[in-house]
Amino acid sequence: MITFVQQYLTTVIAALMIMSVAYLIFWKVFGNKLSNRKIQLSTRAGWSQIKGEIGTTALSFVGSTLFMLVILSFKDQGIAKFYVETGKYGVPYEIMTVILMVLISDTWFYWSHRIMHHPKIYKYVHALHHKSLDVNPYTSTSFHVIEAIWLTVWILPLSMVMPISMTALGIVQVLGTFNNLKSHLGYELFPGFFNKVPFNMLVTATNHSLHHTQYNGNYGLFFRFWDILCGTELNDTSHLFQDIHERKDAVMIDNTKYKNLTISNLVKETDDTISLYFKPSDQFFYAYEAGQHLTVRVKVKGRTHNRCFSLSSTPGNDFLRITVKLKGEVSHWFYNEAKIGDTIESLYPVGDFKANKSENYVMIAGGSGITPLYSMIKDILNKNPKANIKLLYANKSENSIIFKNEIDALTKLYPNFECQHFLSGQKRISIEDLDVNSGANYYVCGPDSLKESVFDNLHIAGVNKNNIHTEHFVDGYVPWFGLV
Ligand SMILES: Cc1cc2nc3c(=O)[nH]c(=O)nc-3n(C[C@H](O)[C@H](O)[C@H](O)COP(=O)(O)OP(=O)(O)OC[C@H]3O[C@@H](n4cnc5c(N)ncnc54)[C@H](O)[C@@H]3O)c2cc1C
Repeated sequence: MITFVQQYLTTVIAALMIMSVAYLIFWKVFGNKLSNRKIQLSTRAGWSQIKGEIGTTALSFVGSTLFMLVILSFKDQGIAKFYVETGKYGVPYEIMTVILMVLISDTWFYWSHRIMHHPKIYKYVHALHHKSLDVNPYTSTSFHVIEAIWLTVWILPLSMVMPISMTALGIVQVLGTFNNLKSHLGYELFPGFFNKVPFNMLVTATNHSLHHTQYNGNYGLFFRFWDILCGTELNDTSHLFQDIHERKDAVMIDNTKYKNLTISNLVKETDDTISLYFKPSDQFFYAYEAGQHLTVRVKVKGRTHNRCFSLSSTPGNDFLRITVKLKGEVSHWFYNEAKIGDTIESLYPVGDFKANKSENYVMIAGGSGITPLYSMIKDILNKNPKANIKLLYANKSENSIIFKNEIDALTKLYPNFECQHFLSGQKRISIEDLDVNSGANYYVCGPDSLKESVFDNLHIAGVNKNNIHTEHFVDGYVPWFGLV
């Protein structure tokens, strides 16, 4: 018992000290100087998030300490072949052991991580780590206790088949700790050439930060090999890395507290869709990019709900607009009960779904998936009236087409913007409609079935997956700070 307490306190205090030093240096002392390198500019992990992460860390170390004691007892019994005399089998053997352990832990992590993201398992274990949207040093050890044990369990069978020096084990632990810290730093410290071969084989802080906001890709630990091999690398990774290196005078916004937004207008767009307008005086609300979304907090029948809604207004408008389709609790309240003058709460706009610079765009929308795409189309045409944009817009019927008149008006104003409508029971979006040889950037937002069929077609046509971008309207999605 005393050994456990000693071991636990030593490791947990050491970890908290390392994370606190990193936090003080990068988030506090040099935080503003490094603002161009802050990966998520409009989200800022606050005390409530960090408090939660420290608590989770304290619990997860109970598991990893117990596991460490099991390993040591296996060593004492001679089952695990750990030895203390460094260099007993020669220096090359020590180096080889370290390399092998790094590769095994990388592979183990990738596959375990992918499995933990399976929808049937995710919420029980790994969701705890993903409560941290804006990652920071304290996120690096904030795991479910089961995950903390599972991710290191590979050491045991390995140590039964080959001798491992305690030094080699220590080196791998130190490498793992610092790699984890780097991936969760929230700041991209790697220089620009880490976007090029061979350096781009390493997992960067940008790579892992995107994993925390987009969930379904970038599962790697040290290296990107497995993500590349299995096609699970998120498309926006290298764009975002480059954007960060091109930034000048980036402004960081504290986005940990909800602010009031008063409804200034309500417009019913279709039988089941409504647009809400806001005219906040807080200028940070207007500092968004087309494609980003608001995270709103609404009280319905005494219960508080958090929901995300893409902005359907365009940067430069003197109002914010979200467009909501009837679904469940919150959308019902917006559609049937909200009145002009009512106040809801919201965080500043965030999100990685943004248009890249390009001359050719193909936008594919299904139903309410038009909201971020409509904002992007207007923004692109405002900035570059010569851009070629094709919108493929799928809906149930003529009456359910959101922004029909506005889209028609845009096609008249910009000859290089065209819109093709696809109504249920009539023509479906086919590979021919996607202009797969145009070198276009593709932006897709809509129901899963539509996204899957578009992705399949683009994949078959060999379109570079870096040119395909998508937004997920996950129902009931709630960031960490929304819970407290
Ligand atoms: C980045 C992002 C952007 C988004 N942008 C938009 C947008 O622009 N426009 C838009 O309309 N939506 C958007 N969404 C989706 C939006 O956030 C909400 O998820 C959506 O409006 C549904 O919320 P709700 O409260 O109305 O429904 P909920 O009450 O959360 O219900 C969602 C679904 O679950 C079902 N459901 C609820 N409770 C139960 C239960 N107990 N058992 C079984 N089924 C149940 C409902 O029938 C419904 O189909 C976006 C989401 C994200 C993540």
